[in-house]
Amino acid sequence: MYDFAIIGGGIVGMSTAMQLAENYPDARIVVIEKEARLAEHQTGHNSGVIHAGVYYTPGSLKAKFCLAGNIATKQFCQQHGIHYDQCGKMLVATSPLEMERMQALWARTEANGLERYWLSKDELHEREPNIVGLGGIFVPGSGIVSYRQVTEKMAQLFTSRGGEIRFSTEVKALHEGSEEIVISTAQEEIHARFLISCAGLMADRIVDMLGAKPDFMICPFRGEYYLLPEKYNHIVSHLIYPIPDPAMPFLGVHLTRMIDGTVTVGPNAVLAMKREGYRKTDISFSDLFTMATHQGIRRVLRDNLRPGLTEMKNSLLKGEYLKTVQKYCPMLKKEDLTPYPAGVRAQAVSRDGKLIDDFLFVNTPRSINVCNAPSPAATSAIPIGGYIVGKVKERLGEAVAVSSFS
Ligand SMILES: Cc1cc2nc3c(=O)[nH]c(=O)nc-3n(C[C@H](O)[C@H](O)[C@H](O)COP(=O)(O)OP(=O)(O)OC[C@H]3O[C@@H](n4cnc5c(N)ncnc54)[C@H](O)[C@@H]3O)c2cc1C
Repeated sequence: MYDFAIIGGGIVGMSTAMQLAENYPDARIVVIEKEARLAEHQTGHNSGVIHAGVYYTPGSLKAKFCLAGNIATKQFCQQHGIHYDQCGKMLVATSPLEMERMQALWARTEANGLERYWLSKDELHEREPNIVGLGGIFVPGSGIVSYRQVTEKMAQLFTSRGGEIRFSTEVKALHEGSEEIVISTAQEEIHARFLISCAGLMADRIVDMLGAKPDFMICPFRGEYYLLPEKYNHIVSHLIYPIPDPAMPFLGVHLTRMIDGTVTVGPNAVLAMKREGYRKTDISFSDLFTMATHQGIRRVLRDNLRPGLTEMKNSLLKGEYLKTVQKYCPMLKKEDLTPYPAGVRAQAVSRDGKLIDDFLFVNTPRSINVCNAPSPAATSAIPIGGYIVGKVKERLGEAVAVSSFS
């Protein structure tokens, strides 16, 4: 019998596992991951940005955890010799409307307590000669890292404290009793006193397995990237982001310096036809059916038809995708966009048709389930893990005698 079982070997699961092992050194803890290695889904397919916390609603968990996570991630990297680069982010306005939106964003960054600088057109050009815009906001605290590497280090610390990781083990069913949770996998049954699920794209299915009818559904949005040729590895010195529409802050492709020295363009946000559908041609009819029959997802699609179709058009036509980046980087040409692996975001949608904005947790008597952890959850993974451990302590007490909790 394990004291704690954690579903998911992404960065949120591994951060939680590492911190549980630190706080409950005598506990038996297991991480259950369906893939053969860590970080195979969102954690290993993202932009690698250590966000500073520009966009998030002041007072939200996202705002709080992102700010704390920015510092914690850099400290973790310093402590464990992981290469990261605090290259800073430039938000660039390219139209009078975006200048107006930039004002609102400026106020939000103030409310979120960020260090940032207002740049005139000339100041922007001076710092980024290949970028054009009417003005910008410079956020020095943003950085880049490999979240796969961070996750692997967390796993190493976890196993060095006695934690176990079961790879290629998919959780198929859960039974929550008064004394334990029985976790059924294809290979075996695993028994644990307490469960924490950090299952990303499958978060709602885990809640469903617990019998706690989820009032949300995960909607998969593919984020497609292109890689720029090597000659452009120094095209920019910072991360370059457009000023987003406040109603859709996650839309707008950016130029991202990656930690391996390359530069990517992206990601867009296209509805994926399969939960883990990384290619345009990946289709799961059962995933499509569950999406089509969920009233919340239908409503999101209806309410966002125009931006949704634009994203689809930009996904299918490289020339259209290119225009979104040419707005602020006009020197790029179609032949500069070369293929790069996509990622798929797990975005929770409420039954009444809202994209759930904040991080979301759902509890049952013997479990805590991370149900909405899209960006900036990689940046925020250390505070999210700390928050979960705090909730576990509230529910089970500080006592290390975990085997006796009930
Ligand atoms: C395109 C894209 C760009 C992004 N850019 C950034 C960025 O720059 N900065 C940032 O902070 N965030 C970014 N994010 C968000 C970030 O990647 C995620 O928020 C974060 O990785 C979530 O981690 P996770 O551990 O919750 O999920 P995941 O990494 O998806 O891990 C969940 C794990 O659970 C496992 N699992 C699921 N079901 C089961 C089951 N039944 N049994 C066993 N195992 C199971 C999966 O195999 C998976 O390994 C981006 C995301 C995407 C998709």
